[in-house]
Amino acid sequence: MKIKQDACTGCGRCLVVCPVGAIHLVDGKATIDKDACVECSTCYRTATCKARAIVQERLKWPRIVRNVFSDVASSHKITGVPGRGTEEMKTNDVTGRFGPGELGLSIELGRPGLGTRLADVELFTVPLSRLGVEFEKANPLTALLSDGDGHIKDDIKDERVLSAIIEFKASLTRLKDILAIVKAVEGKVGTVFSVGVVARACADGSLPVIDALRESGFPPRPNAKVNVGLGRVPRGCAGS
Ligand code: SF4
Ligand code: SF4
Repeated sequence: MKIKQDACTGCGRCLVVCPVGAIHLVDGKATIDKDACVECSTCYRTATCKARAIVQERLKWPRIVRNVFSDVASSHKITGVPGRGTEEMKTNDVTGRFGPGELGLSIELGRPGLGTRLADVELFTVPLSRLGVEFEKANPLTALLSDGDGHIKDDIKDERVLSAIIEFKASLTRLKDILAIVKAVEGKVGTVFSVGVVARACADGSLPVIDALRESGFPPRPNAKVNVGLGRVPRGCAGS
């Protein structure tokens, strides 16, 4: 994103919409801190600038990565959907991605106001890779891992994004090892993060994952939400 200095009137309206505080007034003109900016396009899209001084620049690699993970209107070519993750964890009842005894896990790094560097993502993906978890192929982050060891490609490690979601599948028996990794790296991560777990209930209605989380020192906060329109029509039901 760029601000045309000759057009800017210094009204300050754009400063309040930037989720990471990257816009500042300098000598009466708005200026974007390029390192802090995550290319979310909020300042441009919200049309706060009456002077039309905010313009979108054509982004190149590696900076384009910021936009893909931070702009809700930007669709990633791998997932084909807007956003930083996939829809698989939210639609398991339909997709059956995670079967009995399996877990869908996510680690979401960054939030408005903080963001995250992709180097922080690697703190998790390298040890998780050693553990043998299955990273979600349709997740845009998985495409940014340079090898089979969970490393982020060197040229994008310093890119800053609003947030990024690591998604992977593992068996319930690996949960304690996974949470041990989370505990081991939490002090090194330069932003906030949350861990999400999706599990099927057993036939008797029990949820063994709850006890496993508590035993590992992660008291769960059960959550539910309805995503209208994210489901898929099972085969044979189309048109019914
Ligand atoms: S593109 Fe987003 S992060 Fe960058 S200056 Fe505009 S609102 Fe802030
Ligand atoms: S809203 Fe437009 S005119 Fe006002 S400070 Fe921002 S860039 Fe300048």
